[in-house]
Amino acid sequence: MQKFCQSCSMPLDNAGIMGTEKDGTPSQEYCIYCYQNGAFVAPDMTLPEMTTIVKREMEKRNIDAGTISMAVSSLPHRKRWKAQ
Ligand SMILES: [Zn+2]
Repeated sequence: MQKFCQSCSMPLDNAGIMGTEKDGTPSQEYCIYCYQNGAFVAPDMTLPEMTTIVKREMEKRNIDAGTISMAVSSLPHRKRWKAQ
């Protein structure tokens, strides 16, 4: 089963994209852009801010609109945002 970052919905499809825990082991839940050394890179980020960033970054990569809207609509279901 494919894993996705539980913060930004990026596919965690290779070891280089995995975030890191405090002890340096790879995170099984978050990507390197969201989570490093056991903490969120931007701890104060809100879901609307993340939505804007994800959309902008995907548009920059010329990802099709359907894929972008799927990624964006999956964000509220990710672990980081579920509690809010
Ligand atoms: Zn992420």
